[in-house]
Amino acid sequence: MPKLDRSDFKYNAKVFEKTCLWCGTLFFASRSTAKYCCGTCRGYANQAKHSEEAVPYDETEKMISALLSENAYLKGQLQRYILENEELKKNLNRQRSE
Ligand SMILES: [Zn+2]
Repeated sequence: MPKLDRSDFKYNAKVFEKTCLWCGTLFFASRSTAKYCCGTCRGYANQAKHSEEAVPYDETEKMISALLSENAYLKGQLQRYILENEELKKNLNRQRSE
């Protein structure tokens, strides 16, 4: 799975923000030379390079999986903001009742 979140790494780890050359997903890598977000993308890219008869990877499938990854990431972000918001509301109510 592509690492879509900086928090997948140690806080002090050197991390590079990259765009997958195959599917265009933004991901984080520990090496500056990383080209693909995951083994699947690397596999397809190699296949395409090594064989002219390689079955073309379905554009639609590719876009769908890229969008799903992005969607999952955004849902995570949203969840975080919702929790933060709840926390702020609680604090506000506490201060009001004091
Ligand atoms: Zn990819």
